[in-house]
Amino acid sequence: MDKILVIDDSPVQSGFLCSILKDDYETVSRHTAEEGLQAAKEGGFSLILLDVVMPGMDGFQLLEELKATEVTRYVPVILITSLADVQYEERGLLLGAVDYVTKPFNPVIIKARVNTHIQLYRYQVQFREQAMVDGLTGIANRRRYEAESIARWQEATRFQLPFSLCMFDIDKFKVYNDTFGHPAGDKVIAAVAKTVMAHFQRSTDVFARYGGEEFVAVFLGSQAESAFEFMKTIRQAVEDLHMEHNPQVGPWVTVSAGGVTLVPKPGDKLETYLKLADTMLYDAKRFGRNMVVWSSQTGEQWREK
Ligand code: GH3
Ligand code: MG
Ligand code: MG
Repeated sequence: MDKILVIDDSPVQSGFLCSILKDDYETVSRHTAEEGLQAAKEGGFSLILLDVVMPGMDGFQLLEELKATEVTRYVPVILITSLADVQYEERGLLLGAVDYVTKPFNPVIIKARVNTHIQLYRYQVQFREQAMVDGLTGIANRRRYEAESIARWQEATRFQLPFSLCMFDIDKFKVYNDTFGHPAGDKVIAAVAKTVMAHFQRSTDVFARYGGEEFVAVFLGSQAESAFEFMKTIRQAVEDLHMEHNPQVGPWVTVSAGGVTLVPKPGDKLETYLKLADTMLYDAKRFGRNMVVWSSQTGEQWREK
């Protein structure tokens, strides 16, 4: 059931609104803007009904806060106004409210407007989700990688955690396509994604399709050498799928991986380390493929074989 947050200083008004909506939605009410903001930030709401005139922080200030906060930005806000403050509606809509309802309430109209905006919100959530997912593999796409890797990087910087970044690439995949055809190639990409994804199940892990037959992963908390060991396990798991390759290349489809582990220092840029991971990947290809090459912050390096 969708959750609606009702923020109104009058318990009578909010009680009435909740009673109108309670059959179709879970409702939560708060009676000051500050408490409302707190509740909204905890997340999970599909709609906020917000009274404009409240003592202390008013509805407009709260609306501005909600629109400036990442977790609440997309949640639709319907303003509650009285006939006397009809001139506020324009201001509210300009600040990002999707609609308004006027006191005294007409239950049918309120239900209809709420239903419409909840429906639109569901579409919007679905659309934002899809825009971040790769169609072929169902894993995160590059856009999601860009957004999440930055968040993880900031977390690692703040808590001084080891940050690992890895680039993978399927070996001799052009030959694969030329031998078995593009549709078979697509299946290989999906199978590799699925196998690797099974290893990245922590909430802080990021694993995404970076482009064609290239993937990228970010994970926190492992020291360089154990990150290297972890990636070796993953490389082996792909080989163990025993997906037949062109015999001139080798018996099975394999991946090469290059990466780096570091604790971010002030002034460090994520971009720099993405380039370093890419250089490690290039080395893995150069040294013979089906291999992991890893670097620590101090330039210590590990590679297989
Ligand atoms: P290397 O071992 O050096 O990585 O060689 P490679 O052949 O894998 O590398 P290259 O970059 O030359 O070729 C990548 C190939 O991946 C070429 C391209 O057709 C194929 N590819 C990229 N995206 C897709 C896709 O979505 N589906 C399929 N089937 N093939 C793809
Ligand atoms: Mg390749
Ligand atoms: Mg490539």
